[in-house]
Amino acid sequence: MNNKRPSILLIYTGGTIGMEEDVQSKSLRPVDFNHLTDRIPELKTFNLNLSVIAFDKPMDSSNMNPDVWVKLARLIERNYSKQDGFVILHGSDTMAFTASALSFMLENLDKPVILTGSQLPMGIIRTDGKENLITAIEIASRQEKGRAVIPEVCIYFEYQLYRGNRTHKFNSEHFQAFQSANYPVLAEAGVHIKFNTDAIQAGKPKKLKVHTRLDPNIAVLKIFPGIQKNAVAAILNTKGLKAIILETFGSGNAPTEKGFIDLLTKAIDNGLIIYNVTQCNAGSVDQGKYETSSQLKKIGVVGGADITYEAAIAKLMFVLGQKLKKKEIRKALSNSLRGELSESHGAAAEIL
Ligand code: ASP
Repeated sequence: MNNKRPSILLIYTGGTIGMEEDVQSKSLRPVDFNHLTDRIPELKTFNLNLSVIAFDKPMDSSNMNPDVWVKLARLIERNYSKQDGFVILHGSDTMAFTASALSFMLENLDKPVILTGSQLPMGIIRTDGKENLITAIEIASRQEKGRAVIPEVCIYFEYQLYRGNRTHKFNSEHFQAFQSANYPVLAEAGVHIKFNTDAIQAGKPKKLKVHTRLDPNIAVLKIFPGIQKNAVAAILNTKGLKAIILETFGSGNAPTEKGFIDLLTKAIDNGLIIYNVTQCNAGSVDQGKYETSSQLKKIGVVGGADITYEAAIAKLMFVLGQKLKKKEIRKALSNSLRGELSESHGAAAEIL
């Protein structure tokens, strides 16, 4: 039996969990991390070695950006051999984007990276932050036969552990703020923490490979009934643009109007990657199922299957950053790289 105390690194980036109310303006603003540890004396009673790294300037996660993702990935890389797991305290607004980005950046991950935060600041009596943080640390430290039980980038929120790149923040008020509509929860915390072993990815016994090249030259074209061609053209003609997410209806459907399709065709012919992601919270893009999506398939739009919007953003930045050939980019987008999409939904079959 392995009796070694697990070592966990807690990285505090900011978010509501560490905020307090400004007396005058009444708006929430980030405070120094020390206030947070003062408020959770229970942390000291854990049978583990807990180290903390706090951002000098805690951030509201609405200011999150790829440079910070690189900073986080490097922090994990630098501490990887010393630590058994990582917990990242992060605002919930963009937590699903950060979790998705880290899942792509950390190839061959064999240890848990759990993101958590809260809807109410730690100083408030009904805070959800305390339970979220304590259970996230507990999950990150779980080992079986000397190996991490959860070797994945996850989000833990309100008693549920989710695969990070499958999550979406769907509620700005409920304690249950996240959803993983297309993939089962990885664990549920009650009196005991129950792990859904079948849904958890196997750890990679290979060396961790950290990717830090991300290309943010992407945009999103969310269609709606009545969308005008000049608006579509303006997005497609954005300078330096390499790829767009086409946010479509239902199972990947879009208007069949010739002018609209011609604009997309021209953009693809000029080298733009178009990634079809559904506006629906659950379900999958299936290009060709309806007449309204077969055109898209024909002109070379890449189907995103059941990928979330957040994971699609992170995946595009990651894949474009790898300097691959067009054909390889299309293949990477159609296949699951880190469990972010279910290939059974037919995406892989769409590779041209
Ligand atoms: N605006 C906050 C943030 O994302 C909300 C939260 O932490 O839940 O940083």
